[in-house]
Amino acid sequence: MSDCLFCNIIAGEIPANKIFEDEWVYAFYDISAQAPHHFLVIPKQHIATLNEATDAALIGKLTLTASKLAKQIGFAEAGYRVVMNCNENGGQTVYHIHLHCLGGRALSWPPG
Ligand code: 5GP
Ligand code: ZN
Repeated sequence: MSDCLFCNIIAGEIPANKIFEDEWVYAFYDISAQAPHHFLVIPKQHIATLNEATDAALIGKLTLTASKLAKQIGFAEAGYRVVMNCNENGGQTVYHIHLHCLGGRALSWPPG
């Protein structure tokens, strides 16, 4: 989708600090970090919201990529959070699904 910010990042047309990519997923640092470690894991396939997702394996890959990278970067043992915002009430601002992975500090609960 040429008008999608994250599709453009995957295509290399908008720069991003890439951490990892494979055939299915792409991971990069969030431009506005909310924790000492904050990256996003997105599918290469354009899916606007979690409500449109149907591929369980692909959604699983997002989660397992987050945990793999948290381990590699070194904050997994201390703990972290993965979250996907959906639509307006969920706080979604970019309509290409993305799993946030945040770590490096204690995170409060419940979220705002
Ligand atoms: P949402 O609010 O949709 O759950 O999360 C969107 C995230 O994308 C936000 O945390 C925001 O900081 C991040 N973001 C928005 N634009 C860009 C960008 O151009 N590059 C990167 N790396 N992150 C972005
Ligand atoms: Zn997209």
